[in-house]
Amino acid sequence: MDLDKYTRMPPHDCLRCGHRLDAVSTIEDKFSAPSPGDVTVCINCGLPMIFDDKFKLRRPTQAELDELEFNADYHDTVRAIADLRRQD
Ligand SMILES: [Zn+2]
Repeated sequence: MDLDKYTRMPPHDCLRCGHRLDAVSTIEDKFSAPSPGDVTVCINCGLPMIFDDKFKLRRPTQAELDELEFNADYHDTVRAIADLRRQD
């Protein structure tokens, strides 16, 4: 994950820890703007959240959480965030 490559987004507070989120980054080596239904992970506490069709964040449903368990990109992202936090 390269935090120099990010897309600005309207500020939102994490739904669990309240951390102000105003940018997203991908684990891929490219700029990418999120789309409705995309998953983002709070860089402070690791909470997965979903962009709704108005670009607001909501908590995932249980079915979405179950799906994330099998999503390798999600697990790579959570691992990358944990690595970043260890470097702080
Ligand atoms: Zn958080």
